[in-house]
Amino acid sequence: MSATVPGDAGASSVPAGAGASTHSTESSIVSDLAPDLPVLLPGTATLGVMGGGQLARMFAHSAQQLGFRVAVLDPDATSPAGSIAHEHVRSAYLDAAGLARLADMAQAITTEFENVPAAALSQLAERRPVAPGAAAVAVCQDRAAEKAHFVACGVPCAPHAVITNAVDLAAVPDALLPGILKTARLGYDGKGQQRVANRAELAAAWQALGEVQCVLEARLALAGELSVIVARGRDGATVHLPVQHNLHRDGILAVTTVPAPNTSDVLQTQAVDAATRIATRLGYVGVMCVEFFVLADGSLVANEMAPRPHNSGHYSIDACDVSQFDLQVRAMAGLPLTAPRLHSSAVMLNLLGDLWFAAGDLVDGKAMATEPDWAQVLALPGAHLHLYGKAEARPGRKMGHLTLTAATPQQARETALRAVALLGLPAF
Ligand code: ATP
Ligand code: MG
Repeated sequence: MSATVPGDAGASSVPAGAGASTHSTESSIVSDLAPDLPVLLPGTATLGVMGGGQLARMFAHSAQQLGFRVAVLDPDATSPAGSIAHEHVRSAYLDAAGLARLADMAQAITTEFENVPAAALSQLAERRPVAPGAAAVAVCQDRAAEKAHFVACGVPCAPHAVITNAVDLAAVPDALLPGILKTARLGYDGKGQQRVANRAELAAAWQALGEVQCVLEARLALAGELSVIVARGRDGATVHLPVQHNLHRDGILAVTTVPAPNTSDVLQTQAVDAATRIATRLGYVGVMCVEFFVLADGSLVANEMAPRPHNSGHYSIDACDVSQFDLQVRAMAGLPLTAPRLHSSAVMLNLLGDLWFAAGDLVDGKAMATEPDWAQVLALPGAHLHLYGKAEARPGRKMGHLTLTAATPQQARETALRAVALLGLPAF
């Protein structure tokens, strides 16, 4: 499907206030629902996943716990999931032979990232159930389509304009500056975006981003950030994880806290309702995360959605009785989804590659990676360390995460603060 912006409406003006959209494109309602497909029983099938990163690795852990075999398609010979899966198809995402091999092996297929080409998912869907489907993933791949979908769902998003050409660029309303220019496609972890203060910076940023289609968003004053993970089954029933509170640094998630501190029940309900509407209107099957901004007046603005489990849901492995990855397995296999129960308070800390260089060790004048002292961290009560098996640490690279669980939110926070002190991470 396409839900892109009509060429003549790319940068039309934006009424003030969050929730305004610059374009009137209605997102089409697409549907992945297929209630008549046979259920894949645990122990009897192979589940396939497009992508072999940490999300696919944690998906594989959940699938394997239920006795499913797992097949991963990823071009990287040393991918985190490929190294633990039963089968690893090493091919490009659009390689027809590789996709055919995955479809030969796996009775159902999912994805761990939204940038998998829609054409690949469509090819797989000719042979096997694919959840989420290509059409839903296509909406999540494109910030312009994504925002149009939020608006169609009655969910406010940041004031923005779509920039496709120089005319759109010139027509950007003043109200969007200072703003953040984001490529419409292929951005993640703050990549593919630039903060711009004025028109000159905007023009330079658009050029630096290769003059590809972009979305310019007004830079909002954030009181906080939340996210909600929903799972929707083949029968259309939805369940959700508790609302997560997120702290980002340099555009990358740093800390997730659950229960979300200082977040009213009303706001939490609004976030869950919005995320559920967003998934339902897409006819979505699988796990989806919707990220929100909380503004100073307490209102909620949708930022973006991910058609897969999300970094902000990793705590659910250790703090909930059903994790986001368990839900991904159940949804694609047609198994029942049960509402996750948070049995522990949790704080999740992302472990970026920078940590490996914190000791400042040099060899021949070059920075050398040193494994952090995990033994100290594991001495903390309720510490759950997850390392993704990546061979090389690089600054900004997600190497693992640490979840601290406890009986109360205060205890989880206190232990997390001890962990950040031990690791030399900034306090939060
Ligand atoms: P990820 O893949 O980690 O979700 P991303 O590259 O898709 O990130 P965004 O989610 O668009 O990027 O932005 C990353 C962070 O930058 C947000 O979580 C928020 O902290 C900040 N940010 C993004 N857009 C805005 C905005 N319009 N106003 C204020 N802050 C913003
Ligand atoms: Mg984001």
